[in-house]
Amino acid sequence: MYKSTSPQLSFLEPEILIPGILPKDDWSHIYEEKVYPRIDEDKFKHLYKEKGGAPNKSIKLLISILIFMIIEKLNWREAEFHFQRRIDWLNATHTAFGEASVDYTTLFKFFQRLEKDETAYQLFKELTKIFIEECEVSVKKQRVDSFFMFGWLKILSRYGLFKETIRNFLQALRKHKPGLYEKIKGELSREYLEKDFDLTEKDKAKATRKIREMAQDLYILKTAFENHNQIEHYESFQTLVQVFDQQCMIKEPSEGSIEKEEIGEDCEGQIQVSARAVGTNEEIKSSVKIHPQGEIKEPSEGSIEKEEIGEDCEEQIQASGGGLGTDEEIKSSSKSLPPIEIREKPEGEKIISSPHNTDAAYTKKRNQKVVGHKGFVTETCDPENKVQFITDVNLERATHSDAQEKSRIEERLENNGWKPESFYGDAGFVNGKTILESKEKGIDLVGPSSGRSQSIENFEREDRPLDIADFKVEIDDKSKELKILSCPNKEKPLDQERSDKGDHILAHFDKDICTQCPFCNRCPVKIGKNTSTLTVTEEQYAGAARHHQYMESADYRKECSIRAGAESLVNEIANGHGARKSKHKTEARSRLQLIFASIGCNVKRYIRYMVECAQDQVKVQDQVEIVGAIA
Ligand code: SF4
Repeated sequence: MYKSTSPQLSFLEPEILIPGILPKDDWSHIYEEKVYPRIDEDKFKHLYKEKGGAPNKSIKLLISILIFMIIEKLNWREAEFHFQRRIDWLNATHTAFGEASVDYTTLFKFFQRLEKDETAYQLFKELTKIFIEECEVSVKKQRVDSFFMFGWLKILSRYGLFKETIRNFLQALRKHKPGLYEKIKGELSREYLEKDFDLTEKDKAKATRKIREMAQDLYILKTAFENHNQIEHYESFQTLVQVFDQQCMIKEPSEGSIEKEEIGEDCEGQIQVSARAVGTNEEIKSSVKIHPQGEIKEPSEGSIEKEEIGEDCEEQIQASGGGLGTDEEIKSSSKSLPPIEIREKPEGEKIISSPHNTDAAYTKKRNQKVVGHKGFVTETCDPENKVQFITDVNLERATHSDAQEKSRIEERLENNGWKPESFYGDAGFVNGKTILESKEKGIDLVGPSSGRSQSIENFEREDRPLDIADFKVEIDDKSKELKILSCPNKEKPLDQERSDKGDHILAHFDKDICTQCPFCNRCPVKIGKNTSTLTVTEEQYAGAARHHQYMESADYRKECSIRAGAESLVNEIANGHGARKSKHKTEARSRLQLIFASIGCNVKRYIRYMVECAQDQVKVQDQVEIVGAIA
């Protein structure tokens, strides 16, 4: 049940009971006066039931503790501990002595409520708006950067992923359906819930073999429970099914098709397997070689040996594929497995990298492997500002590109009323497309263009390959259409036209002149049988022109260097406020962690600024008094 915080002050509040208990310029006075009353509790009302349930703790208090936690990089239990003992925290939150108690689970549950919608982002937005207005901060110039927020998960190989996915499901099965667990575990290739559990296998050949075995185990579990009216709804089971579908595929059994089963290893890390006929009454044993990735090599002629089996395999497959309807039956038989192939690359929209966090994604940055998410932070950067504030924050999958996010950031900034005139980003954010998109919105995207060497030495080399920015062009003010006026050899094009699809411009030059031209080997035109053709888009030109501007103008490079300050912002958020590593399993909560890190960072900057202003005022007053005394 929602209950707003009582405005009534208590005689037992630290500063009322013992005036002067904290220094005059203590941060908690500013928080208590300027931040605490501005937390609008009504915006959180919808997170609670209208009626019934225990009355909640004060929302202002819980929000405040979450902010203090993130500013000081504390965990849940530490926050509970500090709240009971810190006079500044009591003072900041109007808490009376003797009432300073909040259970860490209450804090965490409140945090969980916030993951459901955008309430935390709204809080970030409202507090930032107040800070920006009150500190008269200009938003004309802003800079952006991104960083990886590491997941708490280990980077799992395919071997580790299969093993952990199966283990995770079996744990849930054993807990909720111990009888079924006992029945199915004998069907699997190993005991997955053993104590000594290793998610790595250094021996490549062994790992490959085990991966195939585990793929079969995934299939056995999938088919056994996919129709079970309860188990099919387990999150861990759904993850198992997704992992199987993304990583494995079932080869359609056809006459003579073979199911492979390992019988040994060869010295090159390849595995010899036996093959059993599926769909017929015969079992065929064959020597088949499999690459470590699971690719199957054809058996050599004469290597197939046949032996009879007494059961109809087709029936067995249908039975095992039928799954379970009740707890009583398990219809599975590892002997009737269809041929399962490991995909060379997993397939699907959202590839699962760990069963514990299906949102986390792997990516690579240079030589570094990353699992987790990508955080984006934007802040004001006008040198005239006495304090800078974070104006935008977001978290996306690790594979999300900076250029993709740039447009969304601009939209959010515009919606929040903080559209910048100049927006500074590194090469990840800046390319021909993003430059033109920003221009359309009236924003000057400043920064070096991506995908090009930033070596001035290379740019100034006489044999540097030419690009479209080396041509003389004209851009129509209204249509924004590009017109080629002349080439680097001062030749005018014979004609110019749009491609049929309308995305490219094709400019033709005299082939005979081109073949004789001193720039022939450096020029981007393609010399054909009849004519030379330059193919270009407006976006390519914008990217190339930006590159030239950046390489040729020291002033522009100096202007771009304002962006470098965003790296210290990332350092502050990631390392100073604990956003480098996610404390949570889900993307929604990791995002919330980043939003609170940004709120905490803004609150900290605001308080520091207000403290400095108060100290400056005291200095001025002191000087006035001294001057008055002298006079
Ligand atoms: S190769 Fe042709 S288009 Fe290129 S600079 Fe020479 S004359 Fe101009």
